[in-house]
Amino acid sequence: MSDEGEHYTCTECRDVSDQSGVCKNKDCLKEDQALTPCTCTDGEHGADEDEDYYAK
Ligand SMILES: [Zn+2]
Ligand SMILES: [Zn+2]
Repeated sequence: MSDEGEHYTCTECRDVSDQSGVCKNKDCLKEDQALTPCTCTDGEHGADEDEDYYAK
């Protein structure tokens, strides 16, 4: 029930995928490293810790 909106993010470049896998960003330090499962529903990807670090 709570799986709605599940997706995967790269903690380095913040790329988002709807499937598990690895980062495909050639410019990312974590290219080919596993993405992190994320279940946020607000599109913030759990970035509440540093929300004013990169203001939108
Ligand atoms: Zn990345
Ligand atoms: Zn998210």
